[in-house]
Amino acid sequence: MKKIMGKIDSIVQNPYEYLSNLSKSRKIMGYSCTYAPLEIIHAGGFHPARIIGLSSNISLSDIHLQSYACAIVRTLLEDSLSKKLDFLNAFLFLHTCDSMQKLSDIFRMRLSFKHFDLILPVKFNTQSSKEYFVDILEDFKTKLEREQNIKISTGKLNESIQIYNNLRKNLLDLYNIKSTCPFAITYADLSKIVKASFIMDPLEFIDISSSIIKNITLAPANKTKRIILSGSICVHPDIFGTIENKNASIVWDDLCSGTRFFEQLVEQTGKPINALADRFIKRPICPTKYVNPSYRLDYLKKIIENHNANGVIFLFIKFCEPHSFDYPDQKKTLEKVGIPSILIEIENQNVFDEQTKTRLETFIEMLGD
Ligand code: SF4
Repeated sequence: MKKIMGKIDSIVQNPYEYLSNLSKSRKIMGYSCTYAPLEIIHAGGFHPARIIGLSSNISLSDIHLQSYACAIVRTLLEDSLSKKLDFLNAFLFLHTCDSMQKLSDIFRMRLSFKHFDLILPVKFNTQSSKEYFVDILEDFKTKLEREQNIKISTGKLNESIQIYNNLRKNLLDLYNIKSTCPFAITYADLSKIVKASFIMDPLEFIDISSSIIKNITLAPANKTKRIILSGSICVHPDIFGTIENKNASIVWDDLCSGTRFFEQLVEQTGKPINALADRFIKRPICPTKYVNPSYRLDYLKKIIENHNANGVIFLFIKFCEPHSFDYPDQKKTLEKVGIPSILIEIENQNVFDEQTKTRLETFIEMLGD
């Protein structure tokens, strides 16, 4: 187990090195959002790699973006402009928030990767949005076929669906282990495994994650304060360590860097493109999408109940409007059902100060178990 986690750790510490090596044998398409149709990218002959910027010193991107743009878009642009992403052959942008949309425009104007955009529907609750989703996925598939001068057959697409379903199933199994046996694995390690799945060759990842599942020791479920994380992207192991060092366990999340990446498998019956659209529509949505006014509040209440949580920690990237807009209603809803919560804003993935640490520790101290 130690050896496997050592390998995961080294990939997560140096994701660009792993991808540069992989780029010697196949084309790589970067993407940043969980709405990317990985199966189409994979069947189209690219390795889909989720790029979460690494730079902690932002300078080049300041020429293009205001300092109040979120750290996700600023670091992604910084890494691109400083040529750390030169191993990429293409980048796919998904229309989620305004910042991401603007980043797509800057990439198109300033960078030489092959550029793809998927203009996603905003509402997921109508028949026309489903039809539109199918159309844009078909269109993306056609563009890839043209680009690669290949035909993506139904068989090939089904093969890729099977691969990514296996990858997601392993992540879901690991999360279920964590919820049932919170001491079997730390959330810091779990988060590293999820992050590795963004980067690695999917078959290699399935192998490695299957070994983790096989070798994990199911520690007895001692008493612990059960926490749910909710927000955007957080891959900061220090935050998770601080929470879990305080007689608390993170038993589930509703994060772009967590369950929103892998919840819901693709149905393997019927037309594959329709099944892919269906998965995106059924999967828990992020705050840039709409099903009905209470959807995200009900979802939060559901996971609190399913995982018997004592408290919620909202982890937002500073200046992220979509998550901030949802927050007041989420907070009120939790107050009504008697679940304590705290909001932590993260400026950059490398910044986790003493004040934030103290706030987290105090919050956990006051939680009942
Ligand atoms: S963190 Fe928020 S503002 Fe930044 S890319 Fe994600 S949704 Fe957009």
